[in-house]
Amino acid sequence: MDMSADAAALSALTKPALTGLTPMATGGSEDGIDGAVGLSDLTVMMIDDEPMLTEVIGTYLEDAGYRHCVGINDATVALQKVRELNPALVLLDLVMPGVSGFEILQALRQDEHLRYTPVIVLTAASDPDTKLKALSIGATEFLAKPVDPSELVLRVRNSLVLKVYQDRLANSDPVTGLPNRRVLMERLRGILAQTPADSSKVGLLHLRLDRLQQLQATLGQSAGDELLRSAALRMRSRTRSEEEGARARTPNTSMLCRLDGDEFLVLLPNLQDPEVCVGIARRLLQCLAEPFRVGNDRISVSPSIGIALAPDDAQTPEELLAIAATAAALACASGRNTYRFGSRQRNQAAMERLKLEAALHHAVERRELRLVYQPKYDPLKRRIVGVEALMRWHQTEMGQVFPDRFIPIAEETGLIVSLGEWALEEACAQGERWMQQGLEPLKVAVNVSAQQLASGQLPAVVAGLLERHPQMHGALVLELTEGVLIDASSEVNAQLQQFRDQGVQLSIDDFGTGYSSMNYLRHFRLDEIKIDRSFVKDLPDRQSDLSIVRAMTMLGHSLGMRVVAEGVETREQLACLAEIRVDQIQGYLIGKPMAPDDLAARVTEIAARNARRAVPAG
Ligand code: C2E
Ligand code: MG
Ligand code: MG
Repeated sequence: MDMSADAAALSALTKPALTGLTPMATGGSEDGIDGAVGLSDLTVMMIDDEPMLTEVIGTYLEDAGYRHCVGINDATVALQKVRELNPALVLLDLVMPGVSGFEILQALRQDEHLRYTPVIVLTAASDPDTKLKALSIGATEFLAKPVDPSELVLRVRNSLVLKVYQDRLANSDPVTGLPNRRVLMERLRGILAQTPADSSKVGLLHLRLDRLQQLQATLGQSAGDELLRSAALRMRSRTRSEEEGARARTPNTSMLCRLDGDEFLVLLPNLQDPEVCVGIARRLLQCLAEPFRVGNDRISVSPSIGIALAPDDAQTPEELLAIAATAAALACASGRNTYRFGSRQRNQAAMERLKLEAALHHAVERRELRLVYQPKYDPLKRRIVGVEALMRWHQTEMGQVFPDRFIPIAEETGLIVSLGEWALEEACAQGERWMQQGLEPLKVAVNVSAQQLASGQLPAVVAGLLERHPQMHGALVLELTEGVLIDASSEVNAQLQQFRDQGVQLSIDDFGTGYSSMNYLRHFRLDEIKIDRSFVKDLPDRQSDLSIVRAMTMLGHSLGMRVVAEGVETREQLACLAEIRVDQIQGYLIGKPMAPDDLAARVTEIAARNARRAVPAG
């Protein structure tokens, strides 16, 4: 990490709340609204029984750039509307039928949430008594009727500037500029109230930096503040969204806030998969690992992170916070630079995961990996025409570990790049061995992860492979998932073209799951789609699946692609898919993933059976 970048960007994070406002507040800005502080997005409410007046004032304000002006002409509903919309500023008429402006003002000042909302009183009365009374109840400003447009705009702007400044003071941590605990807890309370127990989860990460007290004792308070700001800056870029903070508008974005001392919280609402918390915890640890420059010193921190999940671990904000803090203490006691969950089961799973990860680093060199091959069968030709190579890991202590467990870890740690290269090499070598044994030519498919493409090295790796295994020219297939294609950058696009030039075929794996965009089909020429197992499972009985598989097959064919159905387990499924004219099927019915020799035997066995069939009876 570039520490000078830390320093340079610090000013953006901690920019005093008023610097962006000063020109405006002193009348320096012509258009009246400073976009940087978002005044134009604040709601201004006008309460006046005369529709003409609210109309005119609304027009003046809209001309000045305010986008959310609300006029209320019925005084009896005014209070309720203020509570509903929580405007940043109220313009209030004093004399209205039904309820007077005084009464409304009084009620506002007694409301816990609206006590500090600025109110500009509109009054034709110039007598000092009215003004005094309004002031004593809590009016912030006056505006004389008939309203002068220039004065109106200036008073509104000044009131809003002050409001924004006060909100900042109340809602953010003065050292880092991050939202404070109050804001986060309020948001958390709102989210927990809305989140039904059975839907998505809410994650709360409690992070302690450690070393802060020591740093303050030796280098002083300001050094401590500098460290906090730098750390906050790095963390802010690693939590999911940039839009955190007191002004974040949607409740579904993540939020980083500073508690007290060296403690931070990260709120992760709307988690479909709790594993996301682990990913973010890792990213945070990673970004804090590099030493910080504080003055002339380089300071390292050893953070500890505790993770609590709602509704599993707790249902109230306070409980959730306590559990996350305890988990952080546990992480600290376990040697720091790590994370722990609030629940014992999750901790066990996390420990196991860490153990797997450590072991996976040595899997290739210890020769613990091997490939098994699953046949792809052509129902028309009645023979095996290809195979898919699937990875298997036999770990000495843990025994057999399946791809669903170790591939995600390999992807997260970046190990997939080297594992993937190993698989490509091994599969090509095996493909050649089969040919040398005289087996009929088979297309060999290898799964490729998004990260392998992101590394940009894959075309070079493939070129090397084809040089070492020339017989595999035209026989190698790469299976990609839809996600890779949907997010494809122009670099990925260029790589796909390079594969084509190398005579390598491209297949879309798990077609139809997760992503619904088919936009990529217009941009890339691909050779094969593999209909995901989930659509095949309930064939031939389930009518909707039947329609989907039929449509997918037609789509593939009309784009000139080969269509493969995955997960075929029964004869009925086979018959149904053959009738739909799926080109190939893959599944336990034809063969489970198996060792190379078994695969060769299976190919020969099916070929022999066909030969017997071909001999005319008699
Ligand atoms: P995939 O590429 O979609 O592979 C098909 C998976 O479905 C395989 O699981 C296979 O054993 C299983 N399968 C095939 N036919 C049937 C069937 O009839 N019924 C049932 N129930 N299952 C069937 P496996 O081997 O556990 O692999 C899981 C996933 O792990 C693969 O899904 C692939 O995404 C990933 N994977 C495996 N090997 C590699 C690899 O070398 N590199 C990468 N990047 N990913 C791999
Ligand atoms: Mg596959
Ligand atoms: Mg698949």
